[in-house]
Amino acid sequence: MPIYEYQAVDSNQACSLCRGGFERLQRMADDPLRVCPDCGAPVRRLISAPAVGGSQSGFDDRAKRAGFHKLQRLGKGEYEKKY
Ligand SMILES: [Zn+2]
Repeated sequence: MPIYEYQAVDSNQACSLCRGGFERLQRMADDPLRVCPDCGAPVRRLISAPAVGGSQSGFDDRAKRAGFHKLQRLGKGEYEKKY
């Protein structure tokens, strides 16, 4: 399953999760998220590289068990450092 990256449309309405962006593991057939699962603010889907989804699928499962939001934010930070 690919990982999709989302970020708040308006950072003034965003919570700590969606302001910096977060990732969701979803099936291709699933509808994209329209709002943040935490605060309900509108979010948009970002373009992400397919290779990232494959390498992080195991990470995503561990993140859910051990504190979903914090670990997903860490993953996003690492991703950004590549640029
Ligand atoms: Zn939010």
